[in-house]
Formats: sequence, structure tokens, C-alpha cells
Amino acid sequence: MADDRVATVASDLPARLAEVRARIDRAGADPDRTTLVAVTKGFGPEVVRAALDAGLHDIGESYVQELEAKAAALDEAADGADAVPPRWHFIGRLQRNKVRKAAPYVACWHSVDRLSLGAEIARWAPGASVFAQVNTTGESQKGGCPPAQLPALLGGLRDLGLDVRGLMTIGPAGSQNGSRNAFRSLRTMAENHHLRELSMGMTDDLELAIEEGATVVRIGSGLFGPRPGRNGMRH
Ligand SMILES: *Cc1c(COP(=O)(O)O)cnc(C)c1O
Repeated sequence: MADDRVATVASDLPARLAEVRARIDRAGADPDRTTLVAVTKGFGPEVVRAALDAGLHDIGESYVQELEAKAAALDEAADGADAVPPRWHFIGRLQRNKVRKAAPYVACWHSVDRLSLGAEIARWAPGASVFAQVNTTGESQKGGCPPAQLPALLGGLRDLGLDVRGLMTIGPAGSQNGSRNAFRSLRTMAENHHLRELSMGMTDDLELAIEEGATVVRIGSGLFGPRPGRNGMRH
């Protein structure tokens, strides 16, 4: 990414962060008790650095290659200094064969939607913190386990010794009603399984997610502006 773009993203960040925190507050949650995962996918390590400098330590990534590259770049830049490293959250669709590469970095896995994936995580990161991702919208292009299979998935993940923190979902694009329904059904499922954490809400549906009980929100463009293209496309 061009240096001037990085500089703009970094200089805009404090105001954008204040606005995101105000949105959380206005929607009825305490911003200090809501985990804000700063989604840096599509941006370079300099933007992760800017996030850390702004006090954002929970960093979300969707692609294993990007995660590895950024973690390595930050490590190198820190060069043994006492910089606090990011707490990496993996939020994207994940293939089993990528788990091993991501495992050294990831503190929390948000997109665990099948037992075979959980087994691979348990193998390379025993006892890891995970969220079970539920497909609450029935959209086939989205990840997530069908609600009917959630009980079996949760039981299996626990049997693997994973620390199941809660449930995660992605609301439907462009439908406020749809998002509210998706988030509400996720909350009901979490209550039924005595799970406290709800990872839901992105830039466009943050308020709805908070109103429906999100404890973790995953915000990208609201903090950093539009993403530079991956293969020339927004994602
Ligand atoms: C990209 C992404 C986000 C952040 O999206 P924004 O709309 O930029 O806030 C959150 N969650 C997941 C799973 C994502 O892939």
C-alpha cells in the first residue's frame, strides 16, 4: 500500500475509533466491556501497527497467508523490543490444511464450523479458544454450521478439549431486518447452550449486534476506511 495511504489510515484512526466506540455506547453497551476486534485484512503490517498504537490489541485476519506475513513483519520491526504483540483473531473461512500454519499466531478462532476443522485446531493448538460459527441466514456462500448441527458440533469441540467461548455469525449483507433476526437467533442458541460470548456485528450492522447482545464486534472499514483490493476487488 502506498505510504501516503498508510499515513492517512493511521491519522484518521483515532477519530474513527472514537466514533465506533460512540456507536457501541449509543447502542447500549459499555465500549470498555465490548471486545473490539480490529479487522485488518487487506491492509499491510503498518496498519496493524497503527491499530496497536491506538490501543487496539485484538486484531482480526481472514487469510492465513496475510496473517503470517504481517506477524513476521511486526516481529521483525519489534526486533526484541518490548512492543505488545497483537492478539490475533482468525475470522475467515479456514481450510484444514492451513491450520498448522496459523496456529502459532492465533489466540482465538472465530470460524469453527465443523468438527474436522476443530480437530485440526486441537491438534496444533491444544485447548485453544474458539467460537463456533453458525450460518444463521441459510446463505450457501457463507460459512457456518447449520443451526440443526450446532449441538453436535459444540459437544464435539468440547470433547476435543477446546475452550468454546461462544458463537459467531455473519449477518446478511444489506438487510437490517435480516441482521436483527440472525443476531437474535444466535443469542437464543448461545443461551440454550449456556455460552456467554457472541461474536457478531461488523461496520454496517454494529448497532443491531450490540442491541442483540454482542460481546465481540469485528470492525474493519469503520476503523480503517475502505480496504485496498485483494486481486483488485473489495472484499
Ligand atoms: C471483513 C470481515 C469483517 C469486517 O468487516 P467490515 O464491514 O469492514 O467491518 C468482520 N467479520 C468478518 C468475518 C469479516 O470477514
